[in-house]
Amino acid sequence: MRSVDVLVVGAGLSGSMFARELSGLNPELEVMLIDRLADNRFDRYHRICGEAVSDRAFKELSMGPRHVRNRIVKAREIWPGDIIIEERAKGFVIDRPAFLRSIHEEIEGKVDFEQSSLRSLQREGETIIAQTTSGTVRCSKVIGADGAFSTVRKHLSSDRPRHMIPVKQFIIDEPSEEGTIEFTYGQRYAGGYSWRFPCGGMSNVGFPRGCDDNPRNVVEENARFIPIGNIDPLPVGNVLLLGDAAAMVNPLSFGGIRVAMLSAQNAARAIAGGDTSEYQRWWKGCGFSNVSFWNAYQASKGWDDDRMTSFMERFRGGYGLIGLTKAMLNGGEDRMVAQAFMHSFRYGW
Ligand SMILES: Cc1cc2nc3c(=O)[nH]c(=O)nc-3n(C[C@H](O)[C@H](O)[C@H](O)COP(=O)(O)OP(=O)(O)OC[C@H]3O[C@@H](n4cnc5c(N)ncnc54)[C@H](O)[C@@H]3O)c2cc1C
Repeated sequence: MRSVDVLVVGAGLSGSMFARELSGLNPELEVMLIDRLADNRFDRYHRICGEAVSDRAFKELSMGPRHVRNRIVKAREIWPGDIIIEERAKGFVIDRPAFLRSIHEEIEGKVDFEQSSLRSLQREGETIIAQTTSGTVRCSKVIGADGAFSTVRKHLSSDRPRHMIPVKQFIIDEPSEEGTIEFTYGQRYAGGYSWRFPCGGMSNVGFPRGCDDNPRNVVEENARFIPIGNIDPLPVGNVLLLGDAAAMVNPLSFGGIRVAMLSAQNAARAIAGGDTSEYQRWWKGCGFSNVSFWNAYQASKGWDDDRMTSFMERFRGGYGLIGLTKAMLNGGEDRMVAQAFMHSFRYGW
């Protein structure tokens, strides 16, 4: 039986960043990182994403952007009633599998990284016994960074994300407007949207399953779930959940990369500092967990096109303070959604 200090389940953005951070903060700790996928299957899984990351994310992580496919300078929103809003945006479309590989190279020799799948977890006093496809691991801490259908969460917590959104994603052999990420809203997307992002010289498009027909010129077709409505309260003690395992994705923007990586950074700090409840305090106090996002999603997911138009009409010229104030003063659902929009500018992606 292997014994390690920390077992990290899932080597996606949250798990890999966690391993990187913790090995930097406390090189004495023995950290084991496992992922059920390897090589092409790992890359394929991690390509199922818009791969859009804000400039803020890299700044907060004190790392430069890596493996950039396209720079993002503009976001365009297309709403019913021919309302088109264009705002400046600062971010990147990254090559996510290549980005992850660069993190894995960085932690080589510091973290024990192997391909295996977690099957079950069991507590034995302060110790946790993990059964994986490559054997039994005894550890004092487990990090659940294993995505929407987290096995760690299933075994050690009764909480579930409040909603799982099935989405389809495609790479199509058509260019997109350089630097522009585009979102189309409407009642057909039931609280979601369709997107079109540049992806090198091609485009990355997607939408909630069943809401649109497949696009033309498809090079790759994928499907995955987005978990929203976070686990609350986050478990503390010797098991921490990160990123999608804790359903931290923003319910309005579906942005989950930045918060996944930041959750990793904060969990690593809490473990290195010897007080895992610090992690829960970070989550409760940070803008990403603001309850307005979930309230706005709940309030607006049933809106029809006319209701969307009447709400968005005031933003025809852009998201100005006057429009936001008017929506706030209207009260009710308008207030809820306007509040979430205001938080989204900082915490959406
Ligand atoms: C189609 C789509 C488009 C998206 N676009 C964007 C976007 O443009 N921008 C943005 O910010 N967010 C986007 N998101 C959200 C973002 O992808 C996620 O929030 C983010 O990937 C969460 O990272 P994670 O590391 O927590 O989980 P994941 O990326 O899901 O990684 C989990 C890892 O755990 C591994 N694993 C699972 N189970 C086990 C097990 N039992 N044992 C061992 N390993 C296991 C998996 O193989 C995987 O490598 C999108 C999501 C989808 C589905």
